Amino acid sequence: MMNTPPFHRGDIVELEVRSFAFEGKSVARVNDFVVFVTKAVPGDRVRARIVTAKRTFAEAVAIEVLEASEHRITPRCPHFGICGGCKWQHVSYEEQLALKRQNVVDSFERIGGFRGVEVRPALGSIDPYFYRNKMEFSFSDRAWLTEADLGREVQSPSFVLGLHPAERFDKVLDINECFLQSPVSNHILSVTRRFFQERNVSVYSNKEHEGHLRYLVIREGKKTGDRMVNLVTLDDRPKLLGEYAEALLAGVPQITTIVNSINTRRAQIAVGERERVPYGPGTITEELGGLKFRISANSFFQTNTLQTEVLYETAVRLAELNGNDVVYDLYSGTGTIGIFVAPRVSRVIGIELVASAVADARENARFNGVTNCDFLEGDLLDLLARSTGWMKTSPKPTVLIIDPPRSGMHPDAVTTAAQMGVDRLVYVGCNPATQARDVKILAELGYQIEVLQPVDMFPHTYHVENVAFLRRK
Ligand code: SAH
Repeated sequence: MMNTPPFHRGDIVELEVRSFAFEGKSVARVNDFVVFVTKAVPGDRVRARIVTAKRTFAEAVAIEVLEASEHRITPRCPHFGICGGCKWQHVSYEEQLALKRQNVVDSFERIGGFRGVEVRPALGSIDPYFYRNKMEFSFSDRAWLTEADLGREVQSPSFVLGLHPAERFDKVLDINECFLQSPVSNHILSVTRRFFQERNVSVYSNKEHEGHLRYLVIREGKKTGDRMVNLVTLDDRPKLLGEYAEALLAGVPQITTIVNSINTRRAQIAVGERERVPYGPGTITEELGGLKFRISANSFFQTNTLQTEVLYETAVRLAELNGNDVVYDLYSGTGTIGIFVAPRVSRVIGIELVASAVADARENARFNGVTNCDFLEGDLLDLLARSTGWMKTSPKPTVLIIDPPRSGMHPDAVTTAAQMGVDRLVYVGCNPATQARDVKILAELGYQIEVLQPVDMFPHTYHVENVAFLRRK
């Protein structure tokens, strides 16, 4: 091992970029020394600036492409490279899918210790652009200015509406057009910016805890055409809100509801304590698999509608769900998986920690006339491990569908799930590393991986959803 790093911070080096590492970074090797490179694509030869130099590895950012990888493409968005929203617009979509699949293969090999498991090609989004049904933009008086921006895009650096640059949550990049959302949503963005800028309405500053405008959240039912504009402000200004609603509807008649969430706290979140609804019902409806879901300003909903259907269909197909099945939907959130599968099985029981999510799930079941679904509120471990009353009167599960948060499952929850003794188990994971760790425990307790099916819910980011189908040996 070398005692001094071969590079220093600020060095400009030439690198042959070999493979994909993690979190969208690639790896280059100089002799045996590892350099993690951002803004590169495996197969590139680049000139790069060293940003971190350690004894065992360095980090660099590509500043010039000397020879382009065959997988490199021209990014569609002018904000790409600065905006924190997309990391992979310069990688062909085909290659993005290959890299995501490889991430699953690597995680299951290195963390799970699995060899020779079938990992299918990742299922890609039908349209890798315009796919998001929700986008959250920030108002700010602290613009992130690039050279190209100066004098061009940003008219007034003390009034911007957009997205954060990568890893800079204190700054906002003015966004005119974002290709992750629909053209109508982009129109809402520009009408909103113009309206408030023309009136010199103040922007919220966290330091002073004053200023009116905080966030703009745009939601869209991809199947229904419903559209919600949710303006998050520090205080209540009904007259201004009324004028804004009028201007919005005149400019974008496709809007079906307008909400004003009032958040008087310092917390930097687009959630209010109070709501005004100057137009429409205050909710939108979206469909999954022909079922309807009512979404309010604060409810959680999967952001890629079309791919969510693909994801859930994959789970249904792999688990061979049938009319006799009793499904336990663990970490059920607002109940979308459970309600989606309910018409095809005999019974669904969902378990979820957050009370408001459970209320949404029950409401969604009622809304669809689904009567074979129950949602229980509480910690999974408490509800499954201790033989509480509900278990005695409920049918035993034949299938488990598990969809935990990114951090994965508590080890005791994994053990408890395995002890339920079902033959078929579907683990929907949004983080292959924690999923591989949890599946390793399940494998030690008698389950075998039948197949892994990655599904791409978030094109142009390095995130991947992965469905693991396990059977009891
Ligand atoms: N299946 C849902 C969402 C899953 S997100 C969907 O597709 O929409 C993970 C969910 O697990 C979150 O709603 C979170 O509140 C819940 N959760 C986290 N820890 C939990 C625990 N210990 N017990 C029960 N639910 C938990």
